[in-house]
Amino acid sequence: MTARTDAAPPAETIAAIATPSGRGAIGVVRVSGCDVPAIVEQVVGRGVAPRVASLATFRGAHGEALDQGLALYFPAPHSYTGEPVLELHAHGGIAVLQLLLSRCVELGARLARPGEFTLRAFLNGKLDLAQAEGVADLIDAATATAARAAARSLSGAFSREIRALTDALIELRMFTEATLDFPDEEIDLLRTADARGRLEVIAARVTSVLARAKQGALLREGLTVVLVGRPNVGKSSLLNQLAGDAVAIVTPIAGTTRDALHSQIEVTGIPLTIIDTAGLRPTEDPIETLGIERTRAAIGRADVALVLIDASTGDDVTDADRAILEDLPAELHRIIVHNKIDLAGLYAKVETRAPATAGGAERARHVFLSAKTASGIDLLRQEILALAGAHEDMEGAFLARERHLQALREASLHLTAAAQHLVDAKPPLELFAEELRAAQIALAAIVGEFSSDDLLGAIFSRFCIGK
Ligand code: GDP
Repeated sequence: MTARTDAAPPAETIAAIATPSGRGAIGVVRVSGCDVPAIVEQVVGRGVAPRVASLATFRGAHGEALDQGLALYFPAPHSYTGEPVLELHAHGGIAVLQLLLSRCVELGARLARPGEFTLRAFLNGKLDLAQAEGVADLIDAATATAARAAARSLSGAFSREIRALTDALIELRMFTEATLDFPDEEIDLLRTADARGRLEVIAARVTSVLARAKQGALLREGLTVVLVGRPNVGKSSLLNQLAGDAVAIVTPIAGTTRDALHSQIEVTGIPLTIIDTAGLRPTEDPIETLGIERTRAAIGRADVALVLIDASTGDDVTDADRAILEDLPAELHRIIVHNKIDLAGLYAKVETRAPATAGGAERARHVFLSAKTASGIDLLRQEILALAGAHEDMEGAFLARERHLQALREASLHLTAAAQHLVDAKPPLELFAEELRAAQIALAAIVGEFSSDDLLGAIFSRFCIGK
């Protein structure tokens, strides 16, 4: 990996508390930059062997002991940032860590901005951009599957895939550029190089990486599922079943779920935010009215609506249910859940039916279940995942961001355009070459070979401080 040469290494020494604020067994102050050797001298009072934990007393300006802990010194360039780095592993108290941080600032460091250590690692060629994003995504991962996918990106698996694609594109571009120099033999040369075959292989690979990245985006962003239905149809009970513990108060009195309740659950590694809603019914009660307003806001942001209806009173969608369905935004995916099958003497099943409302654009899926006995809950989980486009096996997913998806889609469009130029009887080879170049640039942006300061600012400002 090569360092970016367009940015001079930042000179200022930065420092931050790298562990979360609060009481803890251990807290870490991290320092990076050219002042680090001097800070080691002053705070630890002696030379510290590189890359080994050394027990030391950390000292203040007058030689007083601030704490006793482990000092870890990484001389440049073999450190996280590529600069000299010092880590002081102290006791995890707010005051003691502040004292150590102030001491480092006294000795020339300034407070680090969010993500600044990782930004320096990127600028010094220690990580590429997709790997740096993997660091933040690993810290933010809400599920074990998401964490594993982030760790894969961090280890460079996603970047290697992207680099292999750019290498293949560069090779094809070389043939193309060579061919451009011999216009009379254009077609023959490209045939010898099997330009079309190569292009097809690259395009298929971009499509497959895009599919894995889409799965990863799902792992990262998760899904928002909103529960709607008349009071007492069993929304809270269903939420409890899906969540696996009692997060909502279930009572037989209509209108008791007054507020929109959010709960995070995990289905095959995908984080689901479930929003249980206030009973959607006209009411004079101001608190209940507020709940209904929140419900409407939550519905506007959801990915899928679970519309609960009561199967115990007969299997069909009533006028009141239809009113709720008609009220949902037309583009919102919906699953109709027939609850209380235990009372109706029905079996758990899934059916596809014509839309229950005139405006319903697609054929709706109907799941029959019991929120009380849990029969059919798995069918519902599968329906939700299928709607989201999730695979059974998420282990191959790359924890991609929207930026990566956009770049892959853009590359894919350029490759399609390139193929079109080959199909046309008289290939304007310059246009073919130009599309290949554009596809390569789109892919290279993923690993940060072409990146603006704005993009870097947007990415690293969302990191935590000390990372
Ligand atoms: P909500 O107002 O839509 O949130 O409905 P709740 O979840 O509070 O449920 C209302 C009542 O119906 C409670 O007494 C639940 O125990 C009951 N209930 C919910 N689901 C089922 C079910 O599948 N079978 C049976 N027998 N009762 C249910």
